[in-house]
Amino acid sequence: MRIESVKAVYPNYQNVASSWRTHLWQIVVEVRMEGGVIGYGYGGGGLASLPVVNGHFRELLVGTEVNSPDDVFGIWDRLYYESLPYGRKGIAMMALSGVDLAIWDALGKAEKKPVAELIGGVKKNRMEVYATGPDSEWYAELGVSGQKLTHRWRGTTDDAVASARTARSVMGNQAKVMFDVYMSWNSEVTIGMAEDLAEFDIYWFEDVLTPDDVRELGELRPKVAPINLAGGEHEFGVAGFREICEHGAYDIWQPDITWCGGITAGMRICELAREYGVPVVPHRGGEVWGLHLIAANDACDDLAEMVLGARDSEVDDLWVGSPQIEGGKLSIRDEAGFGVRLNEGML
Ligand SMILES: [Mg+2]
Repeated sequence: MRIESVKAVYPNYQNVASSWRTHLWQIVVEVRMEGGVIGYGYGGGGLASLPVVNGHFRELLVGTEVNSPDDVFGIWDRLYYESLPYGRKGIAMMALSGVDLAIWDALGKAEKKPVAELIGGVKKNRMEVYATGPDSEWYAELGVSGQKLTHRWRGTTDDAVASARTARSVMGNQAKVMFDVYMSWNSEVTIGMAEDLAEFDIYWFEDVLTPDDVRELGELRPKVAPINLAGGEHEFGVAGFREICEHGAYDIWQPDITWCGGITAGMRICELAREYGVPVVPHRGGEVWGLHLIAANDACDDLAEMVLGARDSEVDDLWVGSPQIEGGKLSIRDEAGFGVRLNEGML
């Protein structure tokens, strides 16, 4: 089948996180095929990434044949190469992610198979879930396997100790408890946290330094063991992860499938991870884009992130039919493509 049109739009969100995400949250990419199949993808970069798709990738894509996974890999390589002078990371790759996911969705719909079937077959049926947010009571009721607390450094470990104590006591001894600190700690703080949080058996510290600090992360990692260092949501493509690898920066890799270059880049990152024995736990992996990769790829741990926030928080229902937590687990639906429908009312 041949690509007829490509369009990226920024949805009319009501409930994205404040700060930069108001205009820089996710884009929707629509790829229409001659013959009527329509694929949808989800990319990053917000308003700033729309011109990459609508002003550049579109003209390269219209008229291109897509009949097999190899065709998708070829398209990815071409878009990467053509955008390389201004791309490789950041907004261009976030835009490319949305295009890649839309083409995988279209191929799945054309072949009447879930994307997971196209990329290796479903190997995990009911995936373990961890919740990100503060609401331990709710997550325990949902029966998920773990909780990730968010923390920003404000000069003391007291608040982290208090929230770890609550999470551990409410979630139970078997639960995974993690911290995402969004690049607000430094090496000294991280070592101090590892000491002060020792009694709570923390599974990982995420994003303790910035993605530019791979060398320092590699030096820090053994000093906070057995707590794992996790990261990678702000890294792109297999070249970026090779650098992480060379410095031994992280125990656990967290590519975001809607940012790092889509399913195609995700598969290549998983290949590298398998070679080096590093587990992959995709960022926001409970959303269909990452969930199909987790289901199909054995380099991914059986662990999907759901950013749930608090029980009463309002959420935008952009992708109708997204998998819901049942019995603490997530499953992909046996439907063509990614198995979700776009809520057009949000465009
Ligand atoms: Mg994070």
